[in-house]
Amino acid sequence: MAVMAQKTVILYPSLGVGHLNPMVELAKVFLRRGLAVIIAVVDMPDKDSVSAEALARLAAANPDIAFRLLPVPSCGTEPCSHPIMRTIDVLRVANPALLGFLRALPAVDAIVLDMFCMDALDVAADLNIPAYIFFSSALGDLAIMLHMPYYYPTAPSSFKDMPKTVLHFPGVPPIRALDMGTAMQDRDSDVAKARLSQCARMLEARGILVNSFDWLEARALEALSRGLCTPGSSAPPVHCIGPLILPGNRGGASERHACLEWLDAQPDQSVVFLSFGSLGRFSAPQLREIARGLENSGQRFLWVVRNPPEHRSNSVEPDLESLLPEGFLERTRERGFMVKNWAPQSEVLRHRSIAVFVTHCGWNSALEGIASGVPMICWPLYAEQKMNKVHMVEEIKVGVVMEGYEEELVKAEEVEEKVRLMMAPGYGDGKELRQRLLTAKEMTVEVLKEGGSSDVAFDAFLTDLLKNTCTDKSGF
Ligand code: UDP
Repeated sequence: MAVMAQKTVILYPSLGVGHLNPMVELAKVFLRRGLAVIIAVVDMPDKDSVSAEALARLAAANPDIAFRLLPVPSCGTEPCSHPIMRTIDVLRVANPALLGFLRALPAVDAIVLDMFCMDALDVAADLNIPAYIFFSSALGDLAIMLHMPYYYPTAPSSFKDMPKTVLHFPGVPPIRALDMGTAMQDRDSDVAKARLSQCARMLEARGILVNSFDWLEARALEALSRGLCTPGSSAPPVHCIGPLILPGNRGGASERHACLEWLDAQPDQSVVFLSFGSLGRFSAPQLREIARGLENSGQRFLWVVRNPPEHRSNSVEPDLESLLPEGFLERTRERGFMVKNWAPQSEVLRHRSIAVFVTHCGWNSALEGIASGVPMICWPLYAEQKMNKVHMVEEIKVGVVMEGYEEELVKAEEVEEKVRLMMAPGYGDGKELRQRLLTAKEMTVEVLKEGGSSDVAFDAFLTDLLKNTCTDKSGF
């Protein structure tokens, strides 16, 4: 679509790489359509924020995108409070910094807010800037979230008090209360109230961009389009513009990770890849169960391991010898590769040797698995991951569940059993899933092509945005 004068769009991600990475990919879409983009990143002296070093790396890899750090003071939330509550508090405290930053710019045509940044709607309203939301999780999650303010206040009880009750929301499979997001479990908690208020405020946006695509979540899209999720209210239009995911090949910008060299030496579709997002960590007993399961499965594996949660820093390298069963590393040396803390996941998943992905069901990881055509073993840990597990297994049908996620420990026997099931070439769930994933993988490419559903959806959004930029900017 041709754009007359260059427009400037501000992208405002929530904290953490899981939110920043898809915003960077969204920025590239804007750039390709001729708009200027600035990503405003909240900077606080805290382990959850994106470090200056990580940001410098991203900026170097994406010279056309402007990044600005917004320094914010401490939000005063207790460190022991729910991490989502902390995120919401930090983003609220960041409002004055965002306001000052936007005011200082010569022109802003629109702002795109991450799904946790609903307090920034006030800033956009103050400055009369059209605000859109970028929902970086599943469309099914959006269908549930938009419906929550209509459902939860009058539900029989908090989810935590009816864990096995099956709930029915428009556009998504039946879901047990225990699989609803961790923040929503206790409806009397501050974090649930804050999330409910955020869900309700989503209706104030001019439109909602979603990192998904129509083929993948057709039922949720239909329910949203027909207004079933927000009965009696007029909801903003939903634009499925995904999948926006990290490129599988970073163009040799940095040195190739050793795990990729190791994968080069493995046969096609022979390796189980285990990775649990940017924050996933397991207790030492759980790490030992995984190790035993992998060893007993007899399969090749690539496993990203972090220190258990009691270690305060996420970045300190784990001591594998002391954490894993005695002799495990030696015994699996020929068929296992351990990565400490961080692997180039998107590249790994696209490697021809990867057969199965054991994932925590973060939505970026799910999309990366789908785009690589790799069947998944779903092991949700926190936040909205249990909801994603339901979408991935029941609706999209690209994975099986690691059932023990509901227990204190997933046992070695289940790790072994699920790995064997998915690796068995000619039968079982693995075969069916692989076929489904072949189609899904093709669709991730088709929908982004010119005239594909996500391309058309982005055009519709852009038409709305450009229409709005002709309005009065008296707030500036
Ligand atoms: N990631 C990575 N290497 C790792 C762990 C994670 O590159 O060792 C990337 C992964 O590819 C994904 C993002 O970090 O793009 C994690 O996002 P996701 O939504 O899956 O989970 P979150 O970290 O938000 O829980």
